[in-house]
Amino acid sequence: MTEKIDCAVIGAGVVGLAVARELAQMGREVIILETADAIGTGTSSRNSEVIHAGIYYPQGSLKAEACVSGKHMLYRYCEAHGVPHKRCGKLIVASDEIQIPTLKEIGKKAAANGVDDMQWLDQDEVLAMEPALNAVAALLSPSTGIIDSHALMLAYQGDAEAAGAVIAFMSPVTGGQITKDEIVLEVGGDANMSLACTTVVNCGGLFAPDVAASIKGLPAKFVPKAYYAKGNYFTLAGRAPFDHLIYPVPEEAGLGVHLTLDMGGQARFGPDVEWIDKIDYRVDPRRGDKFYDAVRRYWPDLKDGSLQPGYSGIRPKIQAPGEPAKDFVISGPAEHGIPGLVNMFGIESPGLTSSLALASMVTRQLTNS
Ligand SMILES: Cc1cc2nc3c(=O)[nH]c(=O)nc-3n(C[C@H](O)[C@H](O)[C@H](O)COP(=O)(O)OP(=O)(O)OC[C@H]3O[C@@H](n4cnc5c(N)ncnc54)[C@H](O)[C@@H]3O)c2cc1C
Repeated sequence: MTEKIDCAVIGAGVVGLAVARELAQMGREVIILETADAIGTGTSSRNSEVIHAGIYYPQGSLKAEACVSGKHMLYRYCEAHGVPHKRCGKLIVASDEIQIPTLKEIGKKAAANGVDDMQWLDQDEVLAMEPALNAVAALLSPSTGIIDSHALMLAYQGDAEAAGAVIAFMSPVTGGQITKDEIVLEVGGDANMSLACTTVVNCGGLFAPDVAASIKGLPAKFVPKAYYAKGNYFTLAGRAPFDHLIYPVPEEAGLGVHLTLDMGGQARFGPDVEWIDKIDYRVDPRRGDKFYDAVRRYWPDLKDGSLQPGYSGIRPKIQAPGEPAKDFVISGPAEHGIPGLVNMFGIESPGLTSSLALASMVTRQLTNS
């Protein structure tokens, strides 16, 4: 049996929910198709829950644009909808004089991206703020914050449903076909049907390339290969003596093992970078040894035995290990020529911060096509 719908959004993570919300509020008929039995069971519940300022991304990139505008939209949204969040600020810490030129470059990059509130702190100023740090200088980012990501997703879901959107759980998209006027999706699980759609937005996260590859009629050159970079977290037993998020000067392929806090004040360290072939969220306790060394560079008082394996998340990469980082990809009709189809690839960090901005970019692409 073939059903008809105006818009199908694939995936009920933070990005799919934000897109569905925006389409529904524009008056479109929307169904969200989700493999799992709940919202946000993928990367959206396995991240640092940081509202990023937009500091590190290349100038002019989608990541920079979506993060800086998305951050402002997100703070306004949280305030208006009572989503728990805190503008706690973040320190990027140089623990050695040798890191100072890199720290200065980070400050310039942030300014070029429109992050206009960064403050340079000399050693006395940093230690007055966070006495437990080993620091020779730091950059303060006052607009970095933390958020309850599940509460955010519930708020997006509530808005989308209030505007008429429907979520079909246990409804994996197993394939599709581009026809003359529509995109026909095959939906398995509980729904088990063919769905003829005017618009399809693929927000399948780690599986977005697989979903796109299963749609017949979309040329393979528009589907990137998926790579997985796992990030492991370790939690701290007891309270951390910090009020800010603490980041080292970044290392290759990640931001370095940093300290973030959740809304309950629990400190966690991570994520590290572990390239994997298969989805596996288990955290190997042996990886903790490297965490002690990395964290003690900026927090020498970290006690032996105080880190416990926490959780992990997997970055949906679209470049192989060692290749330069790729930007977010919003692949719409302007790129592949198929009306009504948008695929979102490589939506890693700062995808949570950028969710509202990404949703606007998607609807703009659809409206302009
Ligand atoms: C370790 C780590 C730390 C991060 N930290 C931050 C941070 O601090 N701040 C920040 O801004 N960003 C952060 N991010 C990025 C952020 O978490 C992601 O960009 C965001 O969660 C992506 O959301 P999504 O909706 O695209 O994907 P997901 O949350 O993965 O959702 C995809 C959904 O699609 C569903 N799906 C997949 N295939 C199908 C199918 N065939 N049919 C139906 N449904 C399907 C899945 O079940 C899933 O629910 C981090 C990411 C990682 C990995």
